[in-house]
Amino acid sequence: MIYITSTLRVMKTKIDSRSTRQSARCERLSYQRNMSRKRIASSEEARARVLIRRRNDLSDVGVVAGQEEEEEGRRSADDDEKNKPVKVVIVGGGFGGLYCALKLDSMQWPKNKKPLISLLDANEQFLFKPLMYELLENEMDEESVAPRFDELLSKTTVTFKKREVVRVVPDVVLRTKMGTSASGTGGKVLLRNRGRAIKKNDDDDDGDDDVFEKYDYLVVALGAKVDFMSEKNFVNGAKEFAMPFNGLEDVKKMQERIELIKNNNNNNDGGGKGFEKVVTVVGAGYAGVELALCLARWFEREDGLRDVKIKLVAKDGEILKNATVGGKNAANKALKKARNIEIVSGVVESIKMVEEVGAAGEVAKFDDGKTYKKVNVSLLTGNKDDERKEIIENVDMCCWTVGLSAKLPTNENDWPFEQDKLSGKIVTDSTLKVAGYDRVFALGDNSIQRTKEENEESSNKKNGEKPATAQVAFQAADYCAWNVWSAINKKSLLPFRYQHLGDMMTLGDKEGAVQFPFGADATLDGQPAFALRRLAYLYRMPTNEQRLKVGQKWFDEIREGLLSGANQS
Ligand SMILES: Cc1cc2nc3c(=O)[nH]c(=O)nc-3n(C[C@H](O)[C@H](O)[C@H](O)COP(=O)(O)OP(=O)(O)OC[C@H]3O[C@@H](n4cnc5c(N)ncnc54)[C@H](O)[C@@H]3O)c2cc1C
Repeated sequence: MIYITSTLRVMKTKIDSRSTRQSARCERLSYQRNMSRKRIASSEEARARVLIRRRNDLSDVGVVAGQEEEEEGRRSADDDEKNKPVKVVIVGGGFGGLYCALKLDSMQWPKNKKPLISLLDANEQFLFKPLMYELLENEMDEESVAPRFDELLSKTTVTFKKREVVRVVPDVVLRTKMGTSASGTGGKVLLRNRGRAIKKNDDDDDGDDDVFEKYDYLVVALGAKVDFMSEKNFVNGAKEFAMPFNGLEDVKKMQERIELIKNNNNNNDGGGKGFEKVVTVVGAGYAGVELALCLARWFEREDGLRDVKIKLVAKDGEILKNATVGGKNAANKALKKARNIEIVSGVVESIKMVEEVGAAGEVAKFDDGKTYKKVNVSLLTGNKDDERKEIIENVDMCCWTVGLSAKLPTNENDWPFEQDKLSGKIVTDSTLKVAGYDRVFALGDNSIQRTKEENEESSNKKNGEKPATAQVAFQAADYCAWNVWSAINKKSLLPFRYQHLGDMMTLGDKEGAVQFPFGADATLDGQPAFALRRLAYLYRMPTNEQRLKVGQKWFDEIREGLLSGANQS
């Protein structure tokens, strides 16, 4: 009995102590839950406070937050986000974008801080534009002038995606009292989705990276396009019938057309036998002069093309307005030497298909059924506007090298960034940071460095505008990479200082001209200039592998030339 009583007592004590432990555990749990609720509430509160403080800070300088974006702003304030690797997205893989990506990849980053770098381009291949002439006349191959991005980037951590960018949406856009925008957060880049343009509201965050690419830092380097439509560049029929020379597609189209011109032995039905073949090159800047000389050299050495006349249309009869005296002299000498080039002083007024002007006989037909129609170019010739006379000419091809402008979507809602009133380029400060956007940078042909005041009063001025050259984009790429690095690592940014290193031209038949940056007459021409130009371009190839590949081909070419020269003698 005593045993039973004492056992019951022990059991009761055990039960009591267990229930005490349980209630203590419950209390502890409930305390922990309360604490965690409080912590969540206080972190939400802190997040909201951060937002409000940020908004107030900006309000002090005249900024008021947009309501929709407030919700989105939580993303960047979230502590968890800080632990994710930073994502840098570069749009446009030309001299600005590709070289910036390569530089960023090669830089030293603090431990575990290397960002994820993505490069987006509408094309699969980078294009070394200064060598497009050599590609056109098959003096160099596509692999050398337009290497694939995936090959160029294979030894880096940069991810390449072939996508066309159609719109940029920063996460937080704050409107200033002045009407301009500002943002200190990341955002997303909307992409053309399998050939279909993205709808305005198609920016849901469903993780479908076909539709958008998120960024913490963005670099915009979309280059320039031929602008046929703006008021200052518009010429009736130019967009439809002239052939621009600015991209890889343009090179291929021009090659196809020249092949047709070559095979056109005047066997058309319309009795147009014996008509002279004519190619016009509109614009006598660097691109126009170099293209005319490249075509002249090509036509001269090919049967079927020797009777083609090249008419270089120069406004006011002047070539290379921006070149030095030495550069102009070298180019004039080469143009005079070319038997098949004629300089026409004037401007193109309109371009039509010949059929439209009733000259059916000018339609070329081939045995294999292919045809091409000549185009009818109306030219106002003469040096001054009031003295110009109209001449009309049916030509086999009209090449267009004028009117380049920034390649940005025309709808202003697609680009939140401030654009220069005159050129349409994105306005950046001297560090290449886009006006009002702490995490967006722009460089190359699509950007202009200006202060806000300069932009306000810039209706006629070109202040802050650097030449639209590979040399500028290439140098800016280094500064841009450095400044993206500095922005991520909270260091101060460097102003971009452009160092002009001279200009180079190809003048045909293994000849060139190099204008040095010291003195108007400091020009080297002929074969030494040709060799120097090639060496400089070799040095500027995007990667060591590409440099080696192209260098090897040039070396083989020189060796073969020397060997065949030795055999002949
Ligand atoms: C025929 C020719 C000869 C030239 N010769 C010289 C020379 O001898 N020396 C010199 O210094 N400069 C020369 N230039 C100028 C020079 O090539 C440009 O100034 C330079 O390429 C500008 O670099 P960028 O990065 O701004 O643009 P680009 O090199 O044009 O690159 C822009 C990139 O953006 C991509 N892109 C555009 N829109 C989109 C989009 N919506 N979505 C995704 N990707 C997009 C394009 O595919 C392209 O790859 C020449 C230009 C031409 C056309």
